[in-house]
Amino acid sequence: MSAPTDAEASGKVVITNVGLMLSGDIRNPILDADTLVIESGRIAAVGKQADCDIANAKTRIDAQGTTLAPGLIDSHVHPVFGDWTPRQNQLGWIESTLNGGVTTMISAGEVHLPGRPKDIVGLKALAITAQRSFANFRPAGVKVLAGAPVLEKGMVESDFAELAAAGVTLLGEVGLGSVKSGAEAGQMVAWARKHGIQSTIHTGGPSIPGSGLIDKDVVLEADADIIGHINGGHTSLPYAQVCELCERSSRALEIVHNGNERIGILTARHARELQCSERVSLGTDGPAGSGVQPLGMLRMVALLSSMAEIPAEEVFCYATGNTARMRGLDSGVIEVGRAADLVFLDRAQHTAGRDLLESVRLGDIPGVGMVLIEGVIRCRRSRNTPPATQVPMVLE
Ligand SMILES: [Zn+2]
Repeated sequence: MSAPTDAEASGKVVITNVGLMLSGDIRNPILDADTLVIESGRIAAVGKQADCDIANAKTRIDAQGTTLAPGLIDSHVHPVFGDWTPRQNQLGWIESTLNGGVTTMISAGEVHLPGRPKDIVGLKALAITAQRSFANFRPAGVKVLAGAPVLEKGMVESDFAELAAAGVTLLGEVGLGSVKSGAEAGQMVAWARKHGIQSTIHTGGPSIPGSGLIDKDVVLEADADIIGHINGGHTSLPYAQVCELCERSSRALEIVHNGNERIGILTARHARELQCSERVSLGTDGPAGSGVQPLGMLRMVALLSSMAEIPAEEVFCYATGNTARMRGLDSGVIEVGRAADLVFLDRAQHTAGRDLLESVRLGDIPGVGMVLIEGVIRCRRSRNTPPATQVPMVLE
């Protein structure tokens, strides 16, 4: 018998008195529910208190009328190992981001590793090591999906088969390595897809000295699953090219914090006009030249809701359920059977908004009151967000 996981050990958790339940599902963003029951780290029931079995809980949480939402999923990060980033030489950036409501991060390549290997056996070894390392260790409980190799010239189909067999499920941003032409990238993306590996492409101007331009023709020809930072990371393509990507591709439209904010706002609005908001996904692209952004995901939600004038409950889906669906994750939506990765939010103290959704719509970021990952409380009142007006209470 192996030792129980944290999720198993957490037993039954009952959350009552939820004021607003955001589902993460863009087809139905607000649930008519005030109670949620967790068993062994998974959502076992959600609904009105009278309809849920709330007896015999190991932990009872009174939400105090606050909002319960799926934990945020950052679609685009660049981790290296553990809770350290060499990019800005910072410790604890993942734990700090947990305090911003993020429960899952998805690597777009461990590109900041000092001395990153660029030979093929070396890049494969790094990807497998990063995948294993973060599968075995969750910093502060946060799920980091890593092990995303950066494509280099000379890779052949058997390299992708070997990576897949070793447990690698992601590619690093196409374009960060020596593979930059549409035809070459398209071939490798197709091999990756055939072997069950998901792909992301860098979109826009060079990110740092040494990287290159990826324009809309390369993005379309490469046909990666995720149009990574469609608003640039940092430099955006001209807006007409971004519109063409929205219209001619059916792939995910990822908008990031470390991109061009104006284009991010215009893209979200354009996707809505095209009635394809379910394709919009949010990320930070941190750590990067502009730093680590523990509140980057919440800032993106407030930015897009306020400046693109999109209802806040819909923008929260871009940061949760949309990404989970496109990435095949078992979190991101409040639904029976899903992982209980949850964040309690409330309007920040002294915001002009009368409730959480209005405060976000007015451009204020909410306060985080508590974060659970697989039913385990990982942080209480956030040390990073403005203080939430109300925070949940643990009753026993
Ligand atoms: Zn990039």
